[in-house]
Amino acid sequence: MKNDIHPKYYPDAKVICACGNSFTVGSTQPEIHIEICSLCHPFYTGKQKLVDTARRVEKFQARLAQKEEVSASRKGKKVKKAKAQIRKKQARKIKAEKENNPAKGGSASGGKEK
Ligand SMILES: [Zn+2]
Repeated sequence: MKNDIHPKYYPDAKVICACGNSFTVGSTQPEIHIEICSLCHPFYTGKQKLVDTARRVEKFQARLAQKEEVSASRKGKKVKKAKAQIRKKQARKIKAEKENNPAKGGSASGGKEK
């Protein structure tokens, strides 16, 4: 090995996980802090666990809940569109009935004379 070019090697560097687990590895750093290890990663535990160090998942779920609350109280475009179509249909029906009734009566001017 050439002198003065290699970093100091720690044969039993301590690795500390956020879950509390710790083990030793060979490293150029004496201590390594990690967020996830084989003891707490969902792949190894087989459990559905959200790894959430920055509260991102929690924040997202809060935002989602807020959005759903708002959308429940507010009428969306779809609802408005559907209502407008129903109104249009009713207007058309009334118009058709009005057009049909004078024809049945025989004279269109009958209503005007009254
Ligand atoms: Zn861990």
